Amino acid sequence: MKHNFGAGPCILPQNVFKQAADAVLDFNGLSILEVSHRHKDFVAVMDEAIDLVKKALNVPAGYSVGFLQGGATLGFTIVALNMMRENKKAAYLNTGTWASGAIKEAKKVGVDVAVVGSSEDKGFIYIPKDFSVPAGMDFFHYTSNNTIYGTQFHALPKTDLPLVCDMSSDIFSKEINVADYDLIYAGAQKNLGPAGATLYIVKDEVLGKSTSPFMPTYLDLKQHIEKESMLNTPPVFAVYVAMLNLRDLLANGGVKAKEVENNAKAALLYNEIDSNPLFFGTVATEDRSKMNVTFKLHNEALAEEFDKAWKAAGIVGLPGHRSVGGYRASMYNALPIESVQVLVDVMKDFATKNA
Ligand SMILES: *Cc1c(COP(=O)(O)O)cnc(C)c1O
Repeated sequence: MKHNFGAGPCILPQNVFKQAADAVLDFNGLSILEVSHRHKDFVAVMDEAIDLVKKALNVPAGYSVGFLQGGATLGFTIVALNMMRENKKAAYLNTGTWASGAIKEAKKVGVDVAVVGSSEDKGFIYIPKDFSVPAGMDFFHYTSNNTIYGTQFHALPKTDLPLVCDMSSDIFSKEINVADYDLIYAGAQKNLGPAGATLYIVKDEVLGKSTSPFMPTYLDLKQHIEKESMLNTPPVFAVYVAMLNLRDLLANGGVKAKEVENNAKAALLYNEIDSNPLFFGTVATEDRSKMNVTFKLHNEALAEEFDKAWKAAGIVGLPGHRSVGGYRASMYNALPIESVQVLVDVMKDFATKNA
């Protein structure tokens, strides 16, 4: 059994893998891979997936849930187009690679972006908190968890504007108040399911209000919500597995229980990083992510030996993103605390050997 600390696509519960595998061979007599998306059995899957998202996150009345394709990357374009109003201006926080991507794509579709806060000056190792927002903005966009750098918002950014959030890498990891947002989007493959589905949670008031002259049908959220995520062929298998994962989540205490577990996993690993003389955490302590824990060796010359040690313990997916180096332990919902303990034991043992 491997301990998968990969950043995404990532670990899902073993029983979800098992059920997904079974459905490839037999989903009510057909394979889930060949069933029509219009068949009542799949329509029921889509309905249940949407319903389970609403249950898991206590989505209030007046909000809709949709499953699209294109990943969070297409989401950068979709949210900018759908949130564009008279001003065609928006405030964005730049907290790393994905936030920068969102800014770039918003500009491409004609949003005049004001980057109101950025941590680029220090290589994105903190969350900017003191910023002011100029008047005349249509919406405010931020990235709740910065998967590559290992920073996370532990409070909402201060703004009264309609709030839009890329929650790709921490959705379902903790309780959130959906009513704080006008639009939430997330690629499935960090905590929800396999790659291929992208989740949108949108306030109904937002739909159909875009002032963009350019609005291809696929990019119009109103179309997807009205067609109940069946505007075109949805990512059938990805939605099916996300549905299985959501069932598993709700059967195991929901996001509330996951939050407790995720806090315990983060505390365990950060305590080791802070007490182990060979390692240091790479981001501001108060902004540390509970999903993606980034750390480095003080002495890079020990890297080869450390890499051998964690690989020998069955750990995979630990190298940091190619743009930052070091190590990144991604600890999504399905990663058991026992796997974190294995990593901590490897680090302790390595410190003893290199004392
Ligand atoms: C992974 C990730 C993305 C990119 O997602 P794709 O589904 O590959 O487009 C965007 N934002 C965040 C925060 C991510 O973690």
